[in-house]
Amino acid sequence: MYYVVCSRCSYVLYSGEKPVEIIRVLAKYGDKCPRCLKKLSLEPKKVVVKVHKQKRSGP
Ligand SMILES: [Zn+2]
Repeated sequence: MYYVVCSRCSYVLYSGEKPVEIIRVLAKYGDKCPRCLKKLSLEPKKVVVKVHKQKRSGP
């Protein structure tokens, strides 16, 4: 799963199985976190992208 998370309040801006363009996620929220109203940017220090890789069991 891919996550785009607010670095201040950990609000999940996006979560899904497919990678997403962060700029699109930010644009969706008007470049602000809807919870804490922190101004978001593309700087990796301000927006955390967590990637959780799930192991798939073989056939
Ligand atoms: Zn926030």
